[in-house]
Amino acid sequence: MAVDLDSRLRSIVGAGAKRLETARGFTTVRDMLDFLPRTYLDPARPAAFRDLPHGEDVVVVGTVRSATTRAMRSRRGRILVVDVEDEAGGGTLQLTFFKPFGHQDRLVPGARVVCSGQIGTYGHQLQLTHPDYAVLNDPSGSASGGWLLGGLVPVYPATPKLSPIVHGDLLDLVLHALVELPDPLPQEVREAHGLPGLLEAYRMVHRPQSEAEHRRGRWRLKFQEAFVIQAALARARLASDAVPAVPREPVEDGLVDALLGRLPFELTAGQQTVLGELRTDLARPVPMHRLLQGEVGSGKTVLALLAMLAAVDGGAQAALLAPTEVLAAQHYRAITAMLGPIAEGGMLGGMEGGTRVALLTGSQSAPERRTNLLAAASGEAGVVVGTHALIQEHVQFAELGLVVVDEQHRFGVEQRDALRAKAGIAPHVLVMTATPIPRTVAMTVYGDMTTSTLRELPRGRQPITTHVVTGDRPAWLQRTWERVAEEVRGGGQVYVVCPRIGEEDDPDLPGGDTTGPGGPVRGGAEADPGHGPDDGGQDDGEELAGAGTDGGPQLHGVHQVTRALRSLPATRDLRIETLHGRMGAEEKDSVMRRFASGDVDVLVATTVIEVGVDVPDATTMVVLDADRFGISQLHQLRGRVGRGGRPGLCLLVTQGGSGDEGAGQRLEQVASTTDGFELARLDLETRREGDVLGASQSGGRSGLRLLRLARDEDLIVTAHEAAWGTVESDPDLAASPALRRELDLLDAERAAFLERG
Ligand code: ADP
Ligand code: MG
Repeated sequence: MAVDLDSRLRSIVGAGAKRLETARGFTTVRDMLDFLPRTYLDPARPAAFRDLPHGEDVVVVGTVRSATTRAMRSRRGRILVVDVEDEAGGGTLQLTFFKPFGHQDRLVPGARVVCSGQIGTYGHQLQLTHPDYAVLNDPSGSASGGWLLGGLVPVYPATPKLSPIVHGDLLDLVLHALVELPDPLPQEVREAHGLPGLLEAYRMVHRPQSEAEHRRGRWRLKFQEAFVIQAALARARLASDAVPAVPREPVEDGLVDALLGRLPFELTAGQQTVLGELRTDLARPVPMHRLLQGEVGSGKTVLALLAMLAAVDGGAQAALLAPTEVLAAQHYRAITAMLGPIAEGGMLGGMEGGTRVALLTGSQSAPERRTNLLAAASGEAGVVVGTHALIQEHVQFAELGLVVVDEQHRFGVEQRDALRAKAGIAPHVLVMTATPIPRTVAMTVYGDMTTSTLRELPRGRQPITTHVVTGDRPAWLQRTWERVAEEVRGGGQVYVVCPRIGEEDDPDLPGGDTTGPGGPVRGGAEADPGHGPDDGGQDDGEELAGAGTDGGPQLHGVHQVTRALRSLPATRDLRIETLHGRMGAEEKDSVMRRFASGDVDVLVATTVIEVGVDVPDATTMVVLDADRFGISQLHQLRGRVGRGGRPGLCLLVTQGGSGDEGAGQRLEQVASTTDGFELARLDLETRREGDVLGASQSGGRSGLRLLRLARDEDLIVTAHEAAWGTVESDPDLAASPALRRELDLLDAERAAFLERG
């Protein structure tokens, strides 16, 4: 049988397979080939030994100058010491062997060797003890290391218990056993883009003759990675298009028109375009599958509401899912306010033919819950607003025609699928996100959706000024709290965001009522050493991982900061409240409601307020330990202010000392622009892919191997077009079994991921 990617290594490399399995978990040819070199050495241009990194695993080339075997001083036996000179200019490296036997015949002066091991020192002398090595010009023509001759020397990520030379020898056996490999990239695609075949690409990466060659091989493998992901998305899209949905045709003088007639503002041109797209999609007999992205405050909520009314006009119900209870409750309030009599169908003074809005959250009282469940099940409520609990519990709908998911970055593909399954028929789906998504991410993570983008903000939106405040200047901090008080006196309200909740009895902030929060506190002295990140009860994942445990400055806690502000002369007369995820839903809702109605001046909170919260009089946002937050998160937070008639102010306070070198630059970037798309791009560059493709967002795929979303835009776009073309012309991939196989593997990976949770 021909050797292919799924062939077992055992049948090819024999006994060596055991070592590969224990050392790296490799069992198939695919495992072996997909383990790519991390770099290459050019034996023609060797590194100087003095530059070698101490304590690290290295692979080096050099020539043996001398080799001596002598008796050891302190114990019995002999030692072989070999001086190897680098080829760059005279540096030496000493190889030592405590069992000279067998080595002394090969490591003779003039022998050109590749050695690998961990660099150590003996006195001033660089050393490798019992290194793994191969002689490049061995006159005996030994089989081992033959692959090191000619071309570049591939260097793989270090693997304990597997010497690079043995690894290279085994890989050689595998490469030689392969005659050809079924290629997931169709021939037309390879030809159109000048890509080598799969086997050739693997050879180019593992056994390159030149830098250009391994680059070309790697490019091809990367292209394949993007292509396979895109093909999976294209097939998912085709599959969802194949399920019929009930078209919801626009209705003359229906609820949509009624709301448009009631709005106190005109839709922006962008909103009108998107509304058109939504109505067209809803009227089609295939499920809408659309992502609406737009800056914080760009007016997505009103569009969602119009889409939901269009569904109701078309005889269906619509569900709006929010990531937190605070947001669900706020949506409910905003929606009922916008709808007015439209939401009072069947009630005295309500609109004739109007509908009802039901709110469903996990923490409602039993009777309240029953009423709302009944409204959903009977179809009396055209619009049902709730949290994810909506899916998990036994909510019945009379006819669910549209699902709107707010703030996708906290809502996974799996939940969306579950909700779709719940509807019985395929509902239309609209996903909204306030995090502007760079094109490559949209294509890769949300690639099975059509995207609508709101670029402009409604007119009259106030500018937000952002400043970075460094905590090592107490005077500036004091000024920050004075500024907060001034804002409040001027009629504004203030958010103060902390990275953690902390405990009621957390120690006071140093400086007490003179400098106030923000003074540099070193972990250790004041901090309770056992005090890790809080993990009790909150549902919002609002606290930063590792807060206060990593030996850096202790991070500000909500309780601590509230106490300090209540005692500072500048702020003690203000009405200060707290909000965090460990509070009960009712309590949270009540605080939020009082803040929204102006009965609270300063809200000290965790990032529960990050998404969607809309309080028009909030003018100022103070973020403590701002360096602990990501770019997009800060941008989100900042979007909470400047929503009413007054300009916004955002103060990013840092204590420094987090050990995060890019932090200062990130804060300056956030301060320098309010363009969310620009910030999203910067964010992508500074974050790792794994964070971007949080498992639930990537459909379970735990990460990308070679693709870099920040850098590979052209490649992703090209692969996208090629893959969609392939899938559209051959939906079952009858002509591409190797591609089908790759897609199955992707599915399996996803399933395995879901099982692990
Ligand atoms: P998003 O959900 O995109 O963050 P919202 O829908 O919450 O934004 O809108 C923010 C505020 O702007 C709301 O108070 C909303 O009523 C208002 N708004 C929406 N569209 C317009 C518009 N075209 N003109 C003026 N105000 C608008
Ligand atoms: Mg919103």
